[in-house]
Amino acid sequence: MPELPEVESVKRVITPKILGATIQKVTFSDKVKIGKEIGKETIVKGTSLELFKERTEHYKIASVYRRSKYIFIEIENEQDNKIIMCHFGMTGAFFTVPDLSNIEIDNHRKHWHVIFELDNGLQLIYTDIRRFGELRALDELTEYPSVLKIAPEPFVQEAYEHYLDKITSKKFMNKPIKVAILDHTVIAGCGNIYACEALLRAGVLPTRTVKDLSQEERKNVFDEVVNVLQEGIENGGSSISDYYNADGEKGTMQDKHNIYGKKVCGQCGGPVEQKVIATRNTHYCPNCQK
Ligand SMILES: [Zn+2]
Repeated sequence: MPELPEVESVKRVITPKILGATIQKVTFSDKVKIGKEIGKETIVKGTSLELFKERTEHYKIASVYRRSKYIFIEIENEQDNKIIMCHFGMTGAFFTVPDLSNIEIDNHRKHWHVIFELDNGLQLIYTDIRRFGELRALDELTEYPSVLKIAPEPFVQEAYEHYLDKITSKKFMNKPIKVAILDHTVIAGCGNIYACEALLRAGVLPTRTVKDLSQEERKNVFDEVVNVLQEGIENGGSSISDYYNADGEKGTMQDKHNIYGKKVCGQCGGPVEQKVIATRNTHYCPNCQK
């Protein structure tokens, strides 16, 4: 599942290829169309397909930015501006290619869902094998309020104070620390993989409740989340199984994982244990983590 570093990598790959281009035409896959017809929103959410087209076709791409695990594409025409919001779910990906047939990874080519034809000869193609991702064409961000509740970006100064305030609130005080850091109202963009890695580095067991952690441990957890996310970005994200960032590129952060998906702890060489915490498969080292 793409987490903050993977989404940042996607943004960096697609931005130079789409910025300044005008969206000429938007096409949807049969799965998306049928989903709408039967009232089950598949990928394109919150608007009808007609309204999605109306809000995106003939608009120029003015900026692309990431917030947490979302990519926002700001678009404008002479009259107004809109925002395309994108979340990759489990297996979503973008390709910027002249044509669908140029996507070389079979599974992604077969599972295309939305094609944005640009006036620069490229197509921005959203593919999604498992279809948990979503695209929305918004008038403004207030139309999708849950985005406004996301914690500040982990790398900005106020993020630590925000995290402390949140974890010590009633909602999280009695929860396992792993549950708290996976919540994007606490820290933006930290998913399962990076949470496991950060807790190993901080030496804190994922099952410990927030109220049992010392101030120092709370700070260490935050600092290590920031560190692993930063390293993830520097390494182009993690590519697990058939995950690709954008245009079929793979990151290398998975080579630096010490605990996630491992049998042996990368720090001490001891056996890695697993436990399901809040429905997520959690890997930890009982020797390095207390
Ligand atoms: Zn260990």
